[in-house]
Amino acid sequence: AGSGKFFVGGNWKCNGTKDSISKLVSDLNSATLESDVDVVVAPPFVYIDQVKNSLTDRIEIAAQNCWTGKGGAFTGEISVEQLKDLGCKWVVLGHSERRHVIGEDDQFIGKKAAYALSEGVGVIACIGELLEEREAGKTFDVCFQQMKAYADAVPSWDNIVVAYEPVWAIGTGKVASPEQAQEVHIAVRDWLSKNVSAEVASKTRIIYGGSVNGGNCAELAKKEDIDGFLVGGASLKGPEFATIINSVT
Ligand code: PEP
Repeated sequence: AGSGKFFVGGNWKCNGTKDSISKLVSDLNSATLESDVDVVVAPPFVYIDQVKNSLTDRIEIAAQNCWTGKGGAFTGEISVEQLKDLGCKWVVLGHSERRHVIGEDDQFIGKKAAYALSEGVGVIACIGELLEEREAGKTFDVCFQQMKAYADAVPSWDNIVVAYEPVWAIGTGKVASPEQAQEVHIAVRDWLSKNVSAEVASKTRIIYGGSVNGGNCAELAKKEDIDGFLVGGASLKGPEFATIINSVT
C-alpha cells in the first residue's frame, strides 16, 4: 500500500434482496475492521435507504451511477441531489459494465464526474483495458485516454479515487498479478504527475479491482502504488470483505 489512507469499496452491482442485504449489513456491522481504512459500499439504488438506515456509520455509502446534472425530466435516472438526500458520499463512475455493456462513453462519464464533484459527492473513477487491448500492447494508451477524459472534465482531484480495473479481471476469477497491477498503478500516477500535478499524483489514491478476494488481497496490498481495492463478488460476503479491508499493510 502507498502513503494515502487505504480505501476499500464494495460494489454490490445488481445483486441482493431486502433479506439478503439485511444479512450482509448485519455481518458488516459485527465485523472487526482496521481503523485506518476508508470503507465504502455501493448497494443497488433501491436498497440504499435500507442500507443507510441499518449499516454502521463506520462504512460510507456509494451509488453505482448517477445522472449528468440536476434532476428533472429524465425518466429512469437518479440525480446526485437524490443520492445526497439518502446520505450517499460517493458514486462509482466509468465502471466497465457501464462502459462496455451499457455503452457509456468517456465524455458522458466525465460529465457525471464533474457534476457529482460540484455537488460534493466523491467519485470512484474507474478505468481499465479490455483483454484484446492488453494483448495489443495498448493498456497504458487506453488507461491514459480514460484518465484524460476525467481530467478534462473535473475542476479538482481532491475528492476522486481512481480504480484501475482491467476488464479481463472483473468477475472472471482471473486476478491481475501484483506486478501487473503495480505496473499500471505507477504509470497512472506518473500520468497524473505529468498531466495534472505532482501533488495530485502523490495524494490521489489508486485502488485495484478485478477478482480481488480474501486469498489474493494480501499480496496485492503489499505493492507500493496499490492504495486499496474495489471489490465486486467478494464484497457480497461480509467476513471475506472484512478480510480484504484488513489486508492493509
Ligand atoms: C467490480 O465490479 O468492480 C469488480 C472488481 O468485480 P469482481 O471483484 O467481482 O471482479
